[in-house]
Order: sequence, then C-alpha cells, then structure tokens
Amino acid sequence: MTPENRKPETENLLIIGGGLAGSEAAWQAARRGVKAVLYEMKPWKFSPAHQSPLLGELVCSNSLRAESIDSAVGLLKEEMRRLGSLIMAAALATRVPAGKSLAVDRERFAGYITEALENEPLISIVREEVTALDRDRPTIVATGPLTSEPLAAALATITGQEHLHFYDAIAPIVHAESIDMGKIFRASRYGAGDDYLNCPFTEEEYAAFYQALMAAEHVPLRPFEEPRYFEGCLPVEVMAARGYLTLAYGPMKPVGLTDPRTGKQPFAVAQLRQENREGTLYNLVGFQTKLKYHEQEWVFRLIPGLEQAEFARLGSIHRNTFIRSPGLLSPYLNFFQYPNIFLAGQISGVEGYVESTAMGLLAGINGARLIQGRPLATPPRATALGALIHHLTNTATKDFQPMNVNFGLFPPLAGRVPKKQRGAAYSQRALIELAEWMAGKG
Ligand SMILES: Cc1cc2nc3c(=O)[nH]c(=O)nc-3n(C[C@H](O)[C@H](O)[C@H](O)COP(=O)(O)OP(=O)(O)OC[C@H]3O[C@@H](n4cnc5c(N)ncnc54)[C@H](O)[C@@H]3O)c2cc1C
Repeated sequence: MTPENRKPETENLLIIGGGLAGSEAAWQAARRGVKAVLYEMKPWKFSPAHQSPLLGELVCSNSLRAESIDSAVGLLKEEMRRLGSLIMAAALATRVPAGKSLAVDRERFAGYITEALENEPLISIVREEVTALDRDRPTIVATGPLTSEPLAAALATITGQEHLHFYDAIAPIVHAESIDMGKIFRASRYGAGDDYLNCPFTEEEYAAFYQALMAAEHVPLRPFEEPRYFEGCLPVEVMAARGYLTLAYGPMKPVGLTDPRTGKQPFAVAQLRQENREGTLYNLVGFQTKLKYHEQEWVFRLIPGLEQAEFARLGSIHRNTFIRSPGLLSPYLNFFQYPNIFLAGQISGVEGYVESTAMGLLAGINGARLIQGRPLATPPRATALGALIHHLTNTATKDFQPMNVNFGLFPPLAGRVPKKQRGAAYSQRALIELAEWMAGKG
C-alpha cells in the first residue's frame, strides 16, 4: 500500500524500542495527532549495556557533545529543538555543567522523557520484547545497537542481508568522594571555566601508567568477533598500543591546562567530567576500555588523584548492530521494499546519541505522515538532518560505516569562506533552509 491510498488515521503506529530514537519518534507521532504504541523490553529484559527501567536511557557518557551551533552536532541539536524534540527539551531541563558541551544528569534526563511519554494520551507504552515484524503494519524499528537477538534475526530476513556488528567500549565512572582533590585541579582548557577535574601526570607517572596499561589483560574476543572501532571511540588501550605518546597527544593531552601547584603545563592529564547534577560521580573522559574489570581497578588507580578511587561503573565492551542502509532505506527512513517498516536510531546507520535521536525524530514524522496518507518528507541536504540522511542513503555500500554528523557530510559552501567562519556559514545556510522546509511542510 502506498502512503497516498492508505485510509487516514485508521491505524496506530507501532514503535519498537524506547531508547532515544524510539522515544523521540513516539513523541513526534503524537504531536501530529497519531496514536503510537511504544514497545520496550525493559525491565523484563536488559541489553548488556542498559541498566535502568526508564525510557531514553543514556548507556555510556552523559554528554550530548558540543553546544555551539557553529559545530555540526550543535547545529543538529538546534534543528531538533526547532522541530519540537522531546529529547532536546529533556536535555535542557536536566543539564549539568560541562564547559562548551551539553551534558545531563542521566537519571533526571531519562525520568523526564519517561514521564512525558507516560502522560501523553496518544502514546501507549507496552513493556514487552518484540520478536517478529509484520511487514504490512506501519512500524518504526528503533531497537538500537544492542537489538535483542530474535528481532535482529527478523530484521535480517527483511533486509535480505546479514546485519553487521562491531564493538564499542564504555568509560569508567568514579565516586567523587574517593578522588584525592589535593592532587588534582579544576579547569577547562584555555581558561574556559573550571568544569573538569584534571589529574596531572609527571613524565615518570605517565611512563608507569603506560606500561601498566600495556601489560593489563583484555577481555578476549571470540574468533569471529573481529573488532572494528570508530576512531572517535577507540578503547584507551588500543590507542596506547599505537605508540608511547599517542595518549599524551590524544585523550591525555595537557594543552591549555596549567597546574596551579607548579604553574606549568603537566606532561599529560586525565580529565574527569561531572556525571550527575549533584557532582557525586565523575567519568574518565576518553577512557573507554575493554580491559578486564580486575585489571581496570589497579591500572586506573595509577592515575594521580585516583589512588583510592571507588568505581561506580567500570568500562566494558559491547556489540553494535546496524544496517548497511544505502540501497535499502529511502530518504524517509523506510525500506524501499517494505515501505511500512521504518528504521530509526543507531541501527539505521548513524552513530551517537544526538544522531540516533535525530533519526527517531524523522522516522516519527514520516511514520505519522504514512498513517495520515500524506506524502513522506525529508529535510534539505544542507541541513544537519538532511546531511545525515544523505549519508545513509548515498554512501557507496562498500565503504558504508555509521557516522557522527560533521560538516564533511554537507554540500560545500559557495565561494571561499575563511576556515574560522565556515561553521557559522554552514549553520546559517542550514537554518534558513530548515525554516523554508518547515514552512512548506506545515
Ligand atoms: C556500549 C555503548 C556505549 C555507547 N556510548 C555512547 C556515548 O557515550 N555517546 C554517544 O553519543 N553514543 C554512544 N553510543 C552509541 C549510541 O548513540 C547509543 O547506543 C544510543 O543509545 C542509540 O540510541 P537508540 O535509540 O538507537 O538505541 P537505544 O538507546 O539503545 O534504545 C534501544 C531500546 O530498544 C530496546 N530493545 C531492544 N530490542 C528490543 C526488542 N526486541 N523489543 C523491545 N525493545 C527492545 C532496548 O531495551 C532499548 O531501550 C554507545 C553505544 C553502545 C552500544
């Protein structure tokens, strides 16, 4: 059945997965007057990374990354705000200090989303695992990188090709009271505030930490599990294995930081970012890892200031399921072959909390339009939303990898724009085109 000959509003929209994408999709459908039934398998079944029964759970970092609209991810957030995003409203209501980033108190964030969805009369929430797909029923699959096995298998029969998977790693979280505040200092880089706790290393301390990291045991991978990481989320030990100074130039770089006790820039720095509003928990920025738990406890206690650290959560490693979307998904996020089935979130082939939410937003809009018998819609390519859709639908299949939003995905700017002004120029163009598109689509 095509969207045009479907009878208006005779059906509910089925949404599978109450994470970031599914929650946003349900909200968008309801905003358009469409009834949505949101299936979530928690609390009866948890993926290896989910822990909370709440909807919209953040499984790792509490940061939604850069806030400035001169950055691609900042622009994407602004576009979503303008389209009435529930997840963006939740983030603003529950934010914690994080310099130039938008970080949230994860419990309050998920609580806000859960309450909003539970109080929305057009949304019904069913706590049940979905194990099969009905190809004729309007459905959004938003089950994330840790989609349960039966549904992943059902999806594989729809896509006609094996779903793909690789591995992501989680950074450890430390109780604030166990940090030795006498050894560390508060500062953001280049004097932009004091949101981060910095653990300064001397050259000798760095050498000892590096050796320990290299000697520690990793979680063994099964033979068929060839790890394929994103450069932006490499396990700390994988980065360290590239060279003695790789960390000192990467997540442990000391640039823009002066230790007030010495008046000098340390040799290296481990940064801790506030995890909850109360400031009782801090995460080790960039220390995602697949070291064994007992190894993490002694290796990370070699970080100056963390000698007595109590860990609220240790780092870990998880599967990431996603679909090779080019050739399978339309720019409206439904399958060419099965137009009633939409994909949203990380499983559609994007990477990151914000990007996953964005795909939930668009799938929610189009799921609602399908039910209402209205033509499906996709934002202009020059917007951050449109640039992501372009990546999902136009990348050569052979090279396809899930992607964070970045200005490299946008059409080039007209004329020569100085480097420092490019972010602002991309954003200005995007927001004008988004406004025109929104006006045209009502
Ligand atoms: C371990 C790990 C760490 C990550 N860390 C970060 C990070 O720090 N920053 C970042 O930007 N991105 C991170 N990501 C990537 C990605 O942004 C997140 O996974 C994000 O939560 C994806 O959103 P989503 O809505 O697609 O999926 P999710 O938020 O995972 O939501 C999917 C929901 O579907 C439910 N579900 C699954 N199967 C079924 C089923 N069959 N029936 C019913 N319900 C089902 C799950 O319980 C879950 O609630 C990480 C991913 C992983 C795996």
